[in-house]
Amino acid sequence: MCSCGVGGRCGAVTAADDLVAAVRRGDRRALARAVTLVESTRPDHRRDAEELIAALLPRTGGATRIGITGPPGAGKSTFIERFGLDGIARGHRIAVLAVDPGSLRGGGAILGDKTRMADLARAPAAFIRPSSAGKQSGGVARRTREAILVCEAAGFDTVLVETVGAGQSETAVADMVDMFLLILPPASGDELQGIKRGVIELADLVLVNKADGALLDHATRAAADYANALRLIRPSLPEWQAAARAVSALTGSGIDAVWDDVARFRAALQRTRAWDRRRAAQARAALWAEIGDALLERFRAAPRVAARLAEVEDEVTAGTRTPAAAARDLLAAFLGGDEDREWLDSPPVGRELL
Ligand code: GDP
Repeated sequence: MCSCGVGGRCGAVTAADDLVAAVRRGDRRALARAVTLVESTRPDHRRDAEELIAALLPRTGGATRIGITGPPGAGKSTFIERFGLDGIARGHRIAVLAVDPGSLRGGGAILGDKTRMADLARAPAAFIRPSSAGKQSGGVARRTREAILVCEAAGFDTVLVETVGAGQSETAVADMVDMFLLILPPASGDELQGIKRGVIELADLVLVNKADGALLDHATRAAADYANALRLIRPSLPEWQAAARAVSALTGSGIDAVWDDVARFRAALQRTRAWDRRRAAQARAALWAEIGDALLERFRAAPRVAARLAEVEDEVTAGTRTPAAAARDLLAAFLGGDEDREWLDSPPVGRELL
């Protein structure tokens, strides 16, 4: 990890080595520092973060990664606190991360107010990480993927990734977790606003929260409705039929059953190796997302492209040029020269040989 240029083989112990060792020991301050490092967009921090992740990688992969989403007010943070505390009582170590589509909504960290999960935040077996608002959605996904790895290396066996509402962030989270939970208030599908059918289709488990007091019947009925609806959706995995259950994050009713669902889900997928296949597919998709993000970033920043981008976009939106022709011109400008224009026009099979 020393920057002397021999790839850490010079034997010098550096601050980075200390950080790796401290994260592996489960030192929470080191863990917080490590997550801050992977969240940073500064190029020198990026390099350090990549080295850190590479050093931690052999210790990663062991946790159950669970995505949690739902509309504001459904009870996500109340649920996470209850679920987390019950999990700790079962012997789990719980990390909670947030994917904040702040860049999409224009502000705010969803876990910024730690008092939302005060008891869990105090528990030594828990780590809660509020998200700082990011600039690019691609960057948010990468940082969260890396933060998951850091938490795993620190010995957390369950990583909860919370997200809220903007559609895009749910898909991004579903692509980086093993199991996806959707938390809904006790209202029927028709009454629910802002939850898209697509999000329900992502769910491995739908939890209708607030099944207590005057809302108990509502929640129980809604859970039965969702269970019926889920049976009509073709399962994304033959190993698992998405289910719905009524829970109360407030009283704790049904929370034990959710832990049992998580264990059954993991066992069912591991039995057929679908667990590993899914993780492998996610890693492959993340690789291509990184390549795509990096290329797009360079494309937008290239002076020859940047100079013409606004004008070309206007032409396309006005309908005076087709998107295909405009894209081809911009790509040719990006790559430069007529040879590349030929390359763009050549059939894909020819491109593979280049
Ligand atoms: P979030 O926005 O999804 O994180 O929702 P919160 O966890 O902040 O909860 C929103 C409101 O619902 C708060 O007033 C909670 O006290 C309440 N709430 C959360 N879970 C339950 C529950 O199981 N039963 C009842 N009755 N209220 C709940």
